[in-house]
Amino acid sequence: MKTRHLILGFTLLLIAAAPIPEDMRYTNLREAMVRSQIAARGVTDPATLRAMGAVKRQFFVPEDSLGDAYDDRPLRIGYGQTISQPFIVAYMTQTIRPQKEHRVLEIGTGSGYQAAVLADIVRSVYTMEIIPELGDPARERLRTLGYRNVEVRIADGYDGWPEQAPFDAIVVTAATEYIPPPLIKQLKEGGRMVVPVGAPFFNQTLMLVEKRKGEITTSQLMPVRFVPFRRSP
Ligand code: SAH
Repeated sequence: MKTRHLILGFTLLLIAAAPIPEDMRYTNLREAMVRSQIAARGVTDPATLRAMGAVKRQFFVPEDSLGDAYDDRPLRIGYGQTISQPFIVAYMTQTIRPQKEHRVLEIGTGSGYQAAVLADIVRSVYTMEIIPELGDPARERLRTLGYRNVEVRIADGYDGWPEQAPFDAIVVTAATEYIPPPLIKQLKEGGRMVVPVGAPFFNQTLMLVEKRKGEITTSQLMPVRFVPFRRSP
């Protein structure tokens, strides 16, 4: 009896003294992020909330920013680019009304985080990145993490991805002064595109573009700040 108590006591002591495992720490941070940064600000789409709670953002930020992975802000990912603030990723995801059977085009792979969030919800994600030094590691990262329904192409996203068009939705994550016509063309009938429009390095406006009966309608969603949409030389 005594020995049993001793063993029990010792085990409890060990459990109490053990540090919280790394993964559980991130899980807690992620739950808090979804609650306080995303749901609290009005994102309600269940699929979006679930995906934001599932994708491990710590794997998409540089090692020296690991401690900031779940902060309420964008983070530098090198080459002058950023991984967007979690709320913006969630808001853009909800705005396209992602469905299980959808095929989605993203312009601006960056870290691959937005692509992973989309891939958690929709059938296939086609994502384009103009900087190979970002796009190649993002492809490898997504593969290692098991996202089998994402294709990364290194190219200027201005021209879209004609071989895979039309798309149910398009997400542009770099600020453009005007919406590239090829992207409008590659949007399916009934499709939705979310895109930051405005001058580089200033506040831009996040716009929703809808195609209904061949007609394009645009609406302004909110002021945002994105890195510039570049063109290949
Ligand atoms: N969605 C990314 C955020 C990327 S920041 C994430 O979740 O991490 C925007 C990205 O768009 C940058 O990596 C930038 O290099 C890329 N970009 C800018 N202009 C582009 C273009 N014309 N075609 C493809 N990618 C472009």
